[in-house]
Amino acid sequence: MSKSDVPGIETIAVHAGASPDPTTGARSTPIFQTASYVFEDADEAASLFNLQKPGFLYSRLTNPTVSVLEERVAALEGGRGAIATASGHAAQILALFPLMQPGCEIVASKMLYGGSLNQMGHSYKKFGWETIFVDPDKPTNFADSITDNTRAIFVENLANPGGVVVDIEAVAKIARKADVPLIVDNTMATPFLSRPFEWGADIIVHSTTKFLSGNGSSIGGIVVDSGQFDWFKNAEKWPSLTEPAPEYHGLRFAETFGDLAYTIYGHVVGLRDLGACQQPFNAWITLQGIETLTLRMERHCANALEVARFLESHPLVEWVSYAGLDSSPYRALAKKFLPAGAGAVFTFGVKGGFDVGVRVVESVEIISHLANIGDTKSLIIHPASTVYRQLSEKQQIAAGAGPDVIRLSIGIETAADIIADLDQALHAAATSAAAE
Ligand SMILES: *Cc1c(COP(=O)(O)O)cnc(C)c1O
Repeated sequence: MSKSDVPGIETIAVHAGASPDPTTGARSTPIFQTASYVFEDADEAASLFNLQKPGFLYSRLTNPTVSVLEERVAALEGGRGAIATASGHAAQILALFPLMQPGCEIVASKMLYGGSLNQMGHSYKKFGWETIFVDPDKPTNFADSITDNTRAIFVENLANPGGVVVDIEAVAKIARKADVPLIVDNTMATPFLSRPFEWGADIIVHSTTKFLSGNGSSIGGIVVDSGQFDWFKNAEKWPSLTEPAPEYHGLRFAETFGDLAYTIYGHVVGLRDLGACQQPFNAWITLQGIETLTLRMERHCANALEVARFLESHPLVEWVSYAGLDSSPYRALAKKFLPAGAGAVFTFGVKGGFDVGVRVVESVEIISHLANIGDTKSLIIHPASTVYRQLSEKQQIAAGAGPDVIRLSIGIETAADIIADLDQALHAAATSAAAE
């Protein structure tokens, strides 16, 4: 293939999965706000229900607007197929659902978004799924925790809340050796900064709520399958995909659908039974966001680096954890895995600990104090008193969210304005703390 046959990521972000509407010529992808679709006749209905014919029958399983989003994100990641979901957390459950049975285990990085630590550490137990959390700085920790019951390794390549980069190439090798799929949460990096399939990951999940939709206006998630994992190699480990499905007349997904088996299972069993489908309107909003993903990520990363450098030299700041800084222990990994930038979310420590941290988030003016990341607007939060509140102090520190930690998600405003706002908030916090 000549170079021009392979579209660039900017082109994929604007066009993949979509074309002008054949009936109306509408250039923007229409919002197919419908629950179901009229069958041509009873034979067509039967073949749709039997999975003998692809098509739309009910929007809990598939919807044309949502399908455009699925094709677009699959193309951005270089994957085979995708399953859009109601939220990022739904994506994590949907990603694991085809792999797990009661008694099965996940080996997960302990550097995860706080909500994921809760979901995996507590709620998964109710399904009989056990999660073993390990320090991702030493990839061999994953290998050491794998047992015969392990069915997935789960990492955030660029971890939320901040500044930690995982050697996904090394972890992928460990996963391959153990014949266990590697699932990467690529929310913080986005496919613009990192494409985990190129390093050997098998499955990718996103909270599309964040940088993909990009403006904090809708909740959503997506699972992307590389189509590369060999379900036949240890077929007994993957009964959902290799054994006959009684409700589909004994069809075996891996045999019938090949490299689309995991994606189709995700729709016709996962979404069918768990019900966590993405709404067409949310998919449409996310598609609008993805069109400008590459432009936004360039600005997000440039601004984040400028703000991180400013904070690093600030007298009221103890430390800054941003993989784009030369002082970061993750700088070399970031250069390898995130060459276009180290993302826009990072943490710093204020002098004075918990109380001063709370005062800083209360003193900002342009930056919004809220629980989200990946917005065009700059965001700030003190994790220990908010999103990581349900964790013990030990867990908070282990997850990079101790009492002095402030998390920033740098937006696309003028960098000097973000810097001026942080500077005044740091001074205001220090002054009011000193006055007590
Ligand atoms: C927000 C987030 C999630 C959860 O996504 P929701 O859309 O809020 O359900 C998962 N992983 C990461 C890294 C996140 O930032």
